[in-house]
Amino acid sequence: MKKRLLIIGAGGVGNVTTRKCARMDDTYEKIMLASRTKSKCDAIAAESGPVPVETAKVDADNPKELKQLIHAFQPDLVINVALPYQDLPIMDACLETGVHYLDTASYEPKDKPEFEYSWQWKYHDQYDQAGIMALLGSGFDPGVTNVFVAYAAKHYFDEIHYLDIVDCNAGDHGRSFATNFNPEINIREITQPGMYYEHGSWKKTKPLEFHRAIDYPRIGPRNSYLLYHEELESLVKTFPSIKRARFWMTFSEEYLTHLRVLQNVGMTSIEPIDFEGMSIQPLQFLKEVLPEPSSLGEGYVGETSIGCQMRGIKDGKDRTCYIFNNCSHQEAYKDTGSHAVGYTTGVPASIGARLMMQETWMKSGVWNIEQLDPDPFMELLPEWGLPWEVILDGELSFKNSEGEDA
Ligand code: NDP
Repeated sequence: MKKRLLIIGAGGVGNVTTRKCARMDDTYEKIMLASRTKSKCDAIAAESGPVPVETAKVDADNPKELKQLIHAFQPDLVINVALPYQDLPIMDACLETGVHYLDTASYEPKDKPEFEYSWQWKYHDQYDQAGIMALLGSGFDPGVTNVFVAYAAKHYFDEIHYLDIVDCNAGDHGRSFATNFNPEINIREITQPGMYYEHGSWKKTKPLEFHRAIDYPRIGPRNSYLLYHEELESLVKTFPSIKRARFWMTFSEEYLTHLRVLQNVGMTSIEPIDFEGMSIQPLQFLKEVLPEPSSLGEGYVGETSIGCQMRGIKDGKDRTCYIFNNCSHQEAYKDTGSHAVGYTTGVPASIGARLMMQETWMKSGVWNIEQLDPDPFMELLPEWGLPWEVILDGELSFKNSEGEDA
């Protein structure tokens, strides 16, 4: 039986997710795209099909409004591609109405820039008892990177010991400063202290304290900075043989200079200030004056390259494995009107949803994506626009036999 899908959030990621899901007419009979600004939903719906896409206005922070929409549309699944702040209200509404849930980013309270899974993991027993499923982190990172690790653990390793997730955007959108996804969430993430996992505990670093040149396939060496990223939290639990797990992301000098200046003048602060009798948050104001990430696609050149570098043991021997995807901004734009950052997030959201709705991945409770069988997801990635490659026992950017930095 075909399903009904509710997608919440009509930004860059919502656009790709909706367009891809609307092409799955073997799975869905109807899609509802709802967000705070209905005109954005209408513009996306006009470009989507053959599955009919209806639109609605909803404030996902308003439980009554959200439940009314769910009762009226009767979806089988809610895909949350609004902001991480909405994870818990949407999970609550799904629980109360008995509808499955999927997201691409872990919950983050508005007043504290800390993103972690503990809040959402607390829902496991209630979801299990209600017989519904929540799939957490079905974007690229988190998302595809988690699945790459699960796939390597299943097929190439007896034990993974060292994991480095490396994320490069070697594209150029032609603006002096813009973020590729929601500016508020992006800047909160980057300006936080870094953190990585080593020998059973978490080590904190100053924001962007460590960097090194990482050699990305078909791109070359790019300066990459150690950040905390939420998939590390779930991966070290799911794969306890991991001794060290880190996350690295590239930033251009121009981007970092702008960010430094904005920080120095207080524009990235989330502390409310009084402005002409109104309380405003400088970072939220900054978001309003920066380009909409979804508007950057046209003319964006170059590609992204995101992968997992792993070292460990197979049949008593040392082994390395690198699994990655390169995604062209222009190809992504041709397919969905989005650059590669929106594309690499929206495509995995649509694949995770497809696997849930076709019952391949259906099980009650709250699950991080690497806890499901990686094979069907890996099969669908190239089919829906994200081909991946594996390099076994090749050279990694992190070479030393103990797994320490060379
Ligand atoms: P955008 O800011 O472009 O879009 C967010 C959308 O959510 C907007 O349409 C916005 O409405 C809507 N929204 C915000 N608050 C509410 C609310 N209270 N009720 C209803 N709708 C709301 O963000 P992106 O598309 O760039 O990112 C979407 C999500 O994807 C984020 O959670 C982000 O963290 C995640 N992400 C995950 C990645 C991954 O690889 N896992 C990578 C990139 C992003 P309005 O237009 O009115 O503001």
